[in-house]
Amino acid sequence: MKNSMTRADWQARADRLAIRTQAFIDGRYVDAIDGRQFDCISPIDGRVLGKVAECGEADVDLAVRVARRVFDSGVWSGSRPTHRKKVLLRFAQLLQDHAEELALLESLDMGKPIGDALGVDLSASVRCMSWTAEAIDKVYGEVAATGSDELGLVTREPLGVIAAIVPWNFPLLMACWKIAPALACGNSVILKPSEKSPLSAIRIAELAIEAGIPAGVFNVLPGFGKSAGEPLALHMDVDGLVFTGSTAVGKLLLQCAGRSNLKRAYMECGGKSPNIVFADAPDLAAAASAAASGIFYNQGEVCTAASRLLVERSIKDEFVARVIEAGRAMQPAHPFEPSAAMGAMVDQAQMQRVLEFVEQGKAEGAELKLGGNQALKDSGGCYIEPTIFDHVDRQMSIAREEIFGPVLSVIAFDHEEEALAIANDSQYGLAAGLWTRDLSRAHRVARKLRAGSVWVNYWDGGDMTAPFGGFKQSGNGRDKSLHAFEKYTEVKATWINLAT
Ligand code: NAD
Repeated sequence: MKNSMTRADWQARADRLAIRTQAFIDGRYVDAIDGRQFDCISPIDGRVLGKVAECGEADVDLAVRVARRVFDSGVWSGSRPTHRKKVLLRFAQLLQDHAEELALLESLDMGKPIGDALGVDLSASVRCMSWTAEAIDKVYGEVAATGSDELGLVTREPLGVIAAIVPWNFPLLMACWKIAPALACGNSVILKPSEKSPLSAIRIAELAIEAGIPAGVFNVLPGFGKSAGEPLALHMDVDGLVFTGSTAVGKLLLQCAGRSNLKRAYMECGGKSPNIVFADAPDLAAAASAAASGIFYNQGEVCTAASRLLVERSIKDEFVARVIEAGRAMQPAHPFEPSAAMGAMVDQAQMQRVLEFVEQGKAEGAELKLGGNQALKDSGGCYIEPTIFDHVDRQMSIAREEIFGPVLSVIAFDHEEEALAIANDSQYGLAAGLWTRDLSRAHRVARKLRAGSVWVNYWDGGDMTAPFGGFKQSGNGRDKSLHAFEKYTEVKATWINLAT
């Protein structure tokens, strides 16, 4: 971020933004067919940012018809990978050129600090788009092992029309994880952003056209889950359904796929990630600081949030004291404050939900060591203090349920097997971390952790080069890396008789 920018500078830029609020179908902005709109409210101060098109079944039908027609025309689906690469690289460049504007939209819409929106969300979105673009002309098919009288070709072909339904915690980045590989593979895409954070998705639709993506290939339908998401999930002419969001909705969408046309369905869902600190961790100060940022970054609204801190009993009190110190330094602030470590929760409902978990934690007998209250009440926004519970039992709701807020549950353990048992005692399996200087233990524990990503001696490592996704009820399928292409293509075997 530019060091010279102050809160007032960001606010002045935000005040000048022309915020787009319509749906985007067939290359142009349109109202919902029935004219419905909903208020887009900023959690920073409760201000209405705009009235957004509330799409429903009729809009879904129209967008699917458009997407199908364009897919069948071959203008994008039949184009050379080198062409799609060039266009998507331009798209990535346009995201970069508009990074400040898009970051402002993210901050205004869902409350994250502007420094994070720019330094993490936007830079990772650009990277996702450009990495995927660069990869698409380097993916080869296969030739089957045959005799000389036949030829077996194994090719990957685009699925067709993809519906992508995404959450609000990293609105643009979660969208890019879907749309980048979907578009790169030649599909037509309909993106449904969360009703809590639709603005960046709406804005990038016109950047896609400017980049050279043909009209109708990339469409955006803002609206609610039940009225816009479900018709997409049930549509008989949608070939692929890709989702990031809660496990409850993920389960529902798998049913929709089964009840309709058996569309390919990939769900990236929730988490309750364990962060295991052994007494022989190489650097306890670094581990404590990572434990705090692992749960408080993005207000704890992270699928991989380090929400369960498992600490070896011999160092527990000393270690928790360090985490409390690091957490206390991460108080929420107005997201345009350049130094803000935490911003606002996405909305009133999410804030209330988190505060209810705090009450439940106290009622169940956990010891509140830090925070637990709403903050910055006079702002009209949705802020919560960084919150730490000690003496948490693994059966308590704050140890089992995804809170999706800045609430850390500390659980003590005495030995490796116990740590593993607690860590794996969850319906989720998205990510896990462990801290030890013992190489054998690091490998042993990493292998036994039932999670899609495991980090040793740091938290939240990884980039576009490795797949991301969950075990158990954290989902199926993988985003990022070459593995992402598997979700957006069908594998075809073509046999040619050479004996004629
Ligand atoms: P959510 O499930 O409430 O909503 C996600 C999306 O689904 C939104 O666009 C919403 O409108 C839509 N939706 C809701 N009900 C629907 C329905 N009946 N039919 C069709 N669509 C419907 O989740 P959220 O609150 O937006 O996001 C938070 C969740 O996302 C957390 O559980 C978090 O762990 C998860 N998440 C997972 C990952 C991952 O990669 N695994 C990444 C980010 C967030």
